[in-house]
Amino acid sequence: MKKRTTKYSDLSKPQLIKLIEEMQETFYQEDIDKNERELATFPWIGSLGQWHWIVETDRLLFNERKATNLGYKREEIPDEVGFEFFTSKLHPDDYERVMDDMRNYLMHESDAFEVEYRIQTKDGKYIWYYDRGTTTKEDENGEVLTISGIVFDITKRKVLEEELRESNKKLKQLVDIDELTGAFTRRYMLDKIENEIQRYNVEKACFSLIMLDIDHFKLVNDNLGHNIGDTVLKDFVEIVEKTLRKKDTLSRWGGEEFIVLLPDTNLSKAVKLANEIRIELNHICMKDAGIVTASIGVSNYYKGDSTDSAIKRVDDLMYQAKSDDRNCIKY
Ligand code: GH3
Ligand code: MG
Ligand code: MG
Repeated sequence: MKKRTTKYSDLSKPQLIKLIEEMQETFYQEDIDKNERELATFPWIGSLGQWHWIVETDRLLFNERKATNLGYKREEIPDEVGFEFFTSKLHPDDYERVMDDMRNYLMHESDAFEVEYRIQTKDGKYIWYYDRGTTTKEDENGEVLTISGIVFDITKRKVLEEELRESNKKLKQLVDIDELTGAFTRRYMLDKIENEIQRYNVEKACFSLIMLDIDHFKLVNDNLGHNIGDTVLKDFVEIVEKTLRKKDTLSRWGGEEFIVLLPDTNLSKAVKLANEIRIELNHICMKDAGIVTASIGVSNYYKGDSTDSAIKRVDDLMYQAKSDDRNCIKY
């Protein structure tokens, strides 16, 4: 700081205020420089940016790294910048969230200003920042005068997190969706029935199950080959799904057996739907395999049924349909 020869008593109030502000900024700049020197000895400091925001005058002071992290040279940035110099570079989808966080902090509704956001670098791409600030100066009424903070480049972590989310999604799909037919898996259906039983117990919402088993499917494989067998399974699922309503769930129970869960559906409605599926199958000629039929069991859920006992009932009914010359419904 320049050595001052002025007598403070000679200065007007505005001059004094200006002088105090200048001294304050010099103090912060020196603080930044000092921190920089100290922090430079830490190995993890590579991407650390530091900032001090003097709220009243909206003056933002920051270390060089805060600018170089974004691809700017210090001299490319005006000497005096405000808060919006950096916030104008925020990703549009993150902007409001960051502003809210700062507003909440200034209104003492949160303990710290702490956010993660995307910010645009000089060459136009976005990187991720973790930004944390806290009050370093306040007036006697608790009004925030200065907030100081640090920013970290967390792009690497965010990219890893995104990759993890993607692979979790894929894993979940493998667990829930049958790869060949796109129908849900047995695992998924078991959970779904469990949920419906809960719903029945709480809301008295009835539901029904349909079990379908393709007739003489082994002959399709034996006569036409496994690949055509696979195609028949896919076509079968497509036909059944077209007949079902949006709220129904079709699962591949195993091999050529399928279970459908019909929420809010009593027995007579379920039988009607099962019959629509049966008729549809009888009318559609699958390319190589011709008409493919199924034996079908239908049952509504009985009070006190477990998942197993509910499934066993439709399974037994389906086997009755098998013994009764196939291509029919038992309920
Ligand atoms: P039924 O009318 O009594 O049900 O006779 P079916 O031939 O349909 O029943 P079976 O249980 O004797 O044979 C089922 C066949 O389904 C045997 C098995 O190789 C075949 N299968 C199971 N999963 C697949 C699959 O993913 N792809 C193909 N192509 N065949 C499968
Ligand atoms: Mg079969
Ligand atoms: Mg079978």
